[in-house]
Amino acid sequence: MVVIPVAVFVLVFLLTRPLFTKVTRRPVQEPEQKEETQTEEILDTDTAVVKAASDDMKGAPGWNVSDSGWWYLNDDMTTFTGGWKTIDGQRYYFKDSGYMATGWVNTGTVKDSYFDSYGILDTSKQQKLVALTYDDGPSANTDKVLDALEKYGAKATFFVVGMQADYYTSQLQREYDLGMEIGNHSYTHPWLNQLTPDEIDEELGHDDDVISKVTGSAPALVRPTGGGISANVIESINRPLIQWDVDTLDWEHLDADQTYDRAMRLVQDGSIILMHDLFAPSADCADRMISSLQEAGYKLVTVSELAEAYGYDLEPGGQYYAFYPGGCEENRTKQQGLDEIYDA
Ligand SMILES: [Zn+2]
Repeated sequence: MVVIPVAVFVLVFLLTRPLFTKVTRRPVQEPEQKEETQTEEILDTDTAVVKAASDDMKGAPGWNVSDSGWWYLNDDMTTFTGGWKTIDGQRYYFKDSGYMATGWVNTGTVKDSYFDSYGILDTSKQQKLVALTYDDGPSANTDKVLDALEKYGAKATFFVVGMQADYYTSQLQREYDLGMEIGNHSYTHPWLNQLTPDEIDEELGHDDDVISKVTGSAPALVRPTGGGISANVIESINRPLIQWDVDTLDWEHLDADQTYDRAMRLVQDGSIILMHDLFAPSADCADRMISSLQEAGYKLVTVSELAEAYGYDLEPGGQYYAFYPGGCEENRTKQQGLDEIYDA
């Protein structure tokens, strides 16, 4: 009873750091003119709140430092906390504690910002973004993928098959609780592009119902089964259709090394990587792949976050292969180009 539906599904799928010291520090440098990839809000708006300095933050007006970090005292002994502040022409970000941020910092936008050891915003350092997508689950392998995502503070998008979620409901719940994006991938995983509009509605509606019971709402995004498109799919689904530009072919070779190698070789800023949490080898390479992508300068985000970060509007019936920085037009051709390069 437990094994049979999964086995049948797999079969079907296979077919298819000095204390209170005022410090005169830093060479104050001219802000360089750099590529404007940060939003205007980051460049122009101070969001830091002025607060009375805490007991730990004594000192003279200006910059002060202790073992806990740098802070800035105004003449009235207030400090800046929790946001952006321009001082002497440089952009800084202050933590809620009032200490100056350094390194990669989440300032509330999808992309993190980089602050050098003086705490100065360095827009020459840009994070790259990538969306990992896992289809056809949840399954007995999903927890291994979620363990890796949780370990590295990463996000992914799961295109969920309803009949799998009916059985692996705790895995779907965990995806949701960890802040992963959940997308619709039909209830029984038929070739949607071979179905009538009514049949497509039934498949997606049933999957919406299963997912909504856990998440409270129907998913905003759909991945057509097999990436298959038809006029009926585009017209009746009426939601953004999420494809991919990096196909690991994990379902075909069922090999963790090949899945890892293809993802690492083909990924670029804005990529959507296709994998399947239905299969053990795809889950087995998740830890290695996530840590390697982060070491390579990528932040792992959901599909919706990726689109938002690079300014894409997601339209119903629109097909999206990737969200490269700087424009929609080339998405489709890039995807085809990658396939040709690899397959040649
Ligand atoms: Zn699928």
